[in-house]
Amino acid sequence: MDLINKDKEFIANTYNRFPVVMIEGKGSLVWDETGKKYIDMGTGIGVNSFGFSDDEWKAAVIEQLGKLQHASNLYYTEPCISLAERLCEKTGMKKVFFSNSGAEANECAIKVARKWAEDKYGEDTYTIITLTNSFHGRTLATLAATGQEVFHEKFTPMPEGFISVPIPAAQGIGDVSAEAQGADGAAEEMLATLRSAAEQNKIAAVMIECVQGEGGVIPLPEETVKAITNFVREKDILLIVDEVQTGNGRTGKLYSYMHFGLAPDIVSTAKGLGGGLPIGATLLGERTKDVLQAGDHGSTFGGNPLACAGALSVLKRLDEAFLSRVEEKSQYIFKELEGTKGIKSVSGKGLMIGVETEKPAAEVVKECIERGVIFLTAKTKVRMLPALNIPMEELKQAIQILKEVCAN
Ligand code: PLP
Repeated sequence: MDLINKDKEFIANTYNRFPVVMIEGKGSLVWDETGKKYIDMGTGIGVNSFGFSDDEWKAAVIEQLGKLQHASNLYYTEPCISLAERLCEKTGMKKVFFSNSGAEANECAIKVARKWAEDKYGEDTYTIITLTNSFHGRTLATLAATGQEVFHEKFTPMPEGFISVPIPAAQGIGDVSAEAQGADGAAEEMLATLRSAAEQNKIAAVMIECVQGEGGVIPLPEETVKAITNFVREKDILLIVDEVQTGNGRTGKLYSYMHFGLAPDIVSTAKGLGGGLPIGATLLGERTKDVLQAGDHGSTFGGNPLACAGALSVLKRLDEAFLSRVEEKSQYIFKELEGTKGIKSVSGKGLMIGVETEKPAAEVVKECIERGVIFLTAKTKVRMLPALNIPMEELKQAIQILKEVCAN
């Protein structure tokens, strides 16, 4: 209680915290100050990819800690070079810029897109199209990119150069049914929406999340993605994929754009890449790899050796066999929850899952915490982002408790 009161006194009031003081965790289990044990289905919002205090991850970080904790980008260090090489090998991207968070990874993506477009089309070409209901971060530029007005209020004026376009209603964002008007019709309508946005603004790029996370764990309909791909090709502009939440094995593929067969020009990622240490990475493709030159961008902590050593150990483990186990666990969750009492729908991909419940999501999460399971929310849904290696036994217990809470 003392800690909670001190938090209220000394920490800015930006978070509505649950009354839990976390002390220690191991794998997918975590204990609070009273000794109560929880199964963790949230991983600190998609960060602890291998759970708490994972042995392999910890060994990699501790080994690096014994050598060099920070050097700055004035010098070469091995961990960030090895991590960048590995990221490029695994994705086919060509170069990486490292930062410390998702918002910063997106800031870099935005700067690269603006510079690329200015070089190619002139200085009035800078607008980035995003989708309504998206979330791209809390800095001013990434807020402006975020297609949810509610986040802009009180912080205006927003930086210019961003417009968000809706996914046509017939494509049923939320109930994902391009069939509603036929796949071709849905793609055409999306394409028309994008073309109309391009009539009023000179477009540099389109930026998307393949599964909208904070927006409610909503995979983009195939037809939307197809239309966006056609649009960027038609206009000869950039495709930026925000993989901050979806990346690094979270959706059952290394990056979620791989489900859609996309070839992005820029990929931003963060969260689960570090496995628990702050890191952001902006991956640049063939067309964008040389846009940034010395002095164009920078970050004191970017490429920090500890964060990169941890990230490299995460990335090394995300092979095909591991990802297929992520997919199996995903299928288990969908099968258990779909059509169950008190549950309206289940959405998402891999181990990034949203559950629309009859009870308010916040109430479900509160009751689950009381019963020793930690879930998250995303808009009106219960959201889960468990450790990618959560043991089956713990997963089963967590899902059982969720089912009971939803049914009663
Ligand atoms: N982009 C997406 C898709 C996210 O989900 C988030 C955070 O939830 C961000 C960007 C911002 O990341 P960060 O909080 O690390 O700045």
